[in-house]
This record gives sequence, structure tokens and C-alpha cells, in this order.
Amino acid sequence: EEVKASNFIEEIVEEDLRTGRCQSVLTRFPPEPNGYLHIGHAKSIVLNFGIAQKYGGETNLRFDDTNPETEETEYVEAIKEDIRWLGFQWARERYASDYFEQLYEFAVKLIRKGLAYVDDSSSEEIARMKGTPTEPGIESPYRNRSVEENLRLFQEMREGKYRDGEKVLRAKIDMSSPNMHMRDPIMYRIKHARHHRTGDKWCIYPMYDFAHGQSDSIERITHSICTLEFVDHRPLYNWFIEKLEIFPSRQYEFARLNLTYTVMSKRKLLQLVQKGYVSGWDDPRMPTIRGLRRRGYTPESIQDFCERIGVQKRENIIDVSLLEFCIREHLNKIAQRVMVVLDPVKLVLTNYPGAQVEWLPTENNPEDPTAGTREVPFTRELWIEREDFMENPPKKYFRLAPGMSVRLKSAYIITCTGFEKNDQGEITTIYAEYIPQSRSGHDESAMKVKGTIHWVSATHAIPVEVRLYDRLFAVENPDEQPGEFTDYINPNSLQIVSRALAEPSLAKARPEDRFQFLRKGYFCVDPDSTADHLVFNRTVTLKDTWAK
Ligand code: ATP
Ligand code: MG
Ligand code: MG
Repeated sequence: EEVKASNFIEEIVEEDLRTGRCQSVLTRFPPEPNGYLHIGHAKSIVLNFGIAQKYGGETNLRFDDTNPETEETEYVEAIKEDIRWLGFQWARERYASDYFEQLYEFAVKLIRKGLAYVDDSSSEEIARMKGTPTEPGIESPYRNRSVEENLRLFQEMREGKYRDGEKVLRAKIDMSSPNMHMRDPIMYRIKHARHHRTGDKWCIYPMYDFAHGQSDSIERITHSICTLEFVDHRPLYNWFIEKLEIFPSRQYEFARLNLTYTVMSKRKLLQLVQKGYVSGWDDPRMPTIRGLRRRGYTPESIQDFCERIGVQKRENIIDVSLLEFCIREHLNKIAQRVMVVLDPVKLVLTNYPGAQVEWLPTENNPEDPTAGTREVPFTRELWIEREDFMENPPKKYFRLAPGMSVRLKSAYIITCTGFEKNDQGEITTIYAEYIPQSRSGHDESAMKVKGTIHWVSATHAIPVEVRLYDRLFAVENPDEQPGEFTDYINPNSLQIVSRALAEPSLAKARPEDRFQFLRKGYFCVDPDSTADHLVFNRTVTLKDTWAK
């Protein structure tokens, strides 16, 4: 089968393989272990692993762990679990911190070449001397230290002779470059902080720009794919590789994924958790992989989404309804159909024998011929949805009302004969007669009805909790509103139905099992469930009902 590039990065890869710039493809996914992965990371994962799979290459998982204060082992484990759950397996597990010694040697090499120097200026002074994009910067008074002095000072920085911020190591490039990143960027800073892997071994840590490209090169990464904000860093990425004379990895940039009705930065997601707007990183309303998983999203639907949106060169914002479309499509194919009544009202079939139970066959999934059937109990007293009955129906109402007939799914046609109300005017019981000749699959009644409604047997129903989720934000772009993004949280993003009534087959459901509740949407079992208290999360409604 012919492999065809489906985006501009794959075109570059094909060209590189064709011209022999590289013999095989090696990509990497480089998360910083300072938070949980979100759907934006999934896009990068699908892209990096997808390219390697497509062109017979490999992908490394590299933890970009050069900021000791914010990084934790807990996040490392969670990230690995999420990538595996998404369906990808890395060839090698690597850590930027594995390369600290090598990176130190690289820095010494640049000092020896006269291309790096120790600067005693404070961070404010360095920032001031950097200048502005339209004005050249000012050279530091420490810029022309001798190689010997720089070697000694850098060694002393490593040995812990100086306090945080007292000195930095900078690359000696060009203080009047129009590219601010080339104005003697900082390579190392002093941080007396404990690192989650190297402990107290180091008190100097490399900056992103002096760790990322070098780590790529050490691993012989052929295509280092990152997001657009790094375009301006590319000349520096190439400068370090050229001056160090190391393996020439190359950086390519694509547009990061932005989604409507949510925020994606780890900092903002952390705020949502810390301020209690959500129950945790895995709250089903969060755009994290854990949140989506708990919500009922499948790995396949997330991959499908990432492939459909493709890879762009310009910033854009994707409509979250596309993500919802992808999960709906997948669940339609795989989810078992069941009957659950969310807002129950009693229905009594006055001509049905009181002690009788019929177990009626019903399809598990009409979209899947191999899914088979199961039997649901049918009895004289049933629960149906309150909204499926109207005392005074308008025209074209095809559900239940006095004198009207509907079919009970997989069971009988019934005709409503009456109802009862309480003092508050609330309907308490609906009465109907069933038509014995109308049993589904054996219908000899010759009656035509337009509506079919779901139901559960009152003697067999199990009470369950159902959590109905909506979008976490009430506006399309909470990042671009005046004030705090948290001012735009949708106050109705979670509605709890504490006593829905489910058909008895659901007693066997286990966390992460996915279902279509007929006529109601797709739901999955939440891990909060216990043997006698099942909790379901609504993954998505059956149709896109969001009012625009
Ligand atoms: P955040 O801004 O949310 O903290 P980050 O870019 O700092 O994200 P990293 O852990 O450094 O998070 O990201 C790992 C990889 O995932 C990087 O290559 C990064 O470019 C990519 N990535 C992060 N967010 C997105 C996104 N929204 N769309 C596409 N790729 C992303
Ligand atoms: Mg980052
Ligand atoms: Mg970040």
C-alpha cells in the first residue's frame, strides 16, 4: 500500500527520506512533568507517534525535566499511563536530566571556543541590557572574561559556591540581533533546589534552549516537532548544534490546538482544580486525558479527532463540537443500548396480570450485528420518563397522552386510559391498557403508532446516580474575555440526577463500561461507583443540542 503524506510535516519527512537527509525517522514527545496531559498534548502525541508509525520509525518519550521546583515523579507516572491509554508505546524512555553531565560538558566546550561566558549581572540588569526588538541591546561588562576565568567560574557555579541568581552562563552571540533569543541567551542558572530525579547533585540547571535541542541531538532525533511559539527559537536551536558540532536534529513547528469552551494551559487547569471549580484533574469536564477518559471518551475517538483537525501552520481554534462528534460516532458503533429512566413517573397497565413477568428480547446494538440480544423484564407496573406524557398535548405530539397510543420499546403498544395527580398538580400515576397482539417481533395488531418510548419494570429497576455534564465555560473563548477566565464558568456544567431507574442488566456494569441510554445519550460508569451504588457520567448527548 502506498504511503501518502497527509500534512506538511509528513511532506518534509518524505522529502528527507527520499533525499537521504535521514535513513529512518526518530521523533520524540517531550512533556514537562509539571501537570497532567490534555487534549492539546494528545495532538502532539498523535502527530509524533503517527509519523513514526507511518514511516517505519520510532518515537522516544522524553521528560523535559529541567525545572526542579515544578516537577514531580507523580506526574511522570501519570503521563506514561495516559500515553499508553491513548494507544501508543514509546521506543525509549528518556529524561533531559539524564543528560545533565553531558550538557555540562557541552557548555564547557562552548566556553573553550570563546562562545559562552559567566555573567554576574542580576536578572533585572540582564533584562534591561537586552534592549527591545527595535533597539540593539548593550553588551554585558562581563562579556569579555577570559576562557580560563569563565571555566573556573562555571566550575564554581556547579560546586555550589554561589547563591541563586548570583551568576548565569550565557551564550556569546549577538547583542544587536533582531531576534531577541540570539542576544546572548542564558544557558544555565543557579538553583539550589532538589530535583525529582537527580536530588541534590546539581545546583545549576540548563535553560530550555540549552537542553531541548541538545537532548534531541544526543538521542539523534531526526524531526523535533514543536508548537509555533518556538519558531523564533529555531535559529538558536541551530546555532548551538552547529557550534557544538553535534548530530543535526531539526526543529519543525505546527499550530497548537485550541478548543472552544475550555482552557488548555496547565497553569489555568491547575487553578480550576485548586480553587475547587472542578473535583480534580480527572473531573469529567476537564480537557485533560484523564478527564476525557472519565467522561467516557475512547482513545480511538481522540485519535480520530486529532487526525480530522490535521496539522496547521497558523493558530486557530477548533470547535469542541467536532470532538463531541468523534466520540458520538465511535460510541454509536460500540456502545451497548440500555433503558434508563432519568425522571421517572409510574405507568400501570391495568389489563396486564399482576404477577406476570415476561422476559422480552431486545437488541444490544443495532449498529453491530455481532452484539446479540438480551432479555428485559416486562411487568404490570413500569417507570417511564415524565416528559413522555402530556395531559394536554399539542398537535404532532407522538408520545403518551389520554387516549393516545405509543409503543414501549421491544414490548407492546399501549393506549393511555387515565392518570392521577397529587395536590401540587404533579402527575403521580399514568394508566394504560396494553394490546396483547402487538408484541414486538410478533405484532398482529395492525395498529400504527408514531412514537416509541423507553421504560423499565418497576419490580426490577435498579436506582442509579446520573451526572449530566455540560460545557465547563459559558463562552466560546474564555481566554479572550475581560477579567478573570473563571468569571466565565458555566454555572450549570454539572447536574446530578440522584435517583434514575435502570434496567436490571446494568447491575453488572463496571467502571469505564460505556452505554447508550436509549433516547438520552451516551453514558459510562464512573469510578465513584460501588457495588450497590452505580454512578454514570453522560459522555455526550445523542445529537448536537448546544444552542449557538
Ligand atoms: P502548557 O502550556 O499547557 O503548560 P506546554 O507546552 O508547556 O503546555 P509541555 O509538557 O512542555 O507543555 O508539552 C509537551 C509537548 O506537547 C510539547 O511538544 C508541546 O509543544 C506539546 N503541546 C502542548 N500543548 C499543546 C497544544 N495545545 N497543542 C499541541 N501541542 C501541544
Ligand atoms: Mg513546555
Ligand atoms: Mg508550560
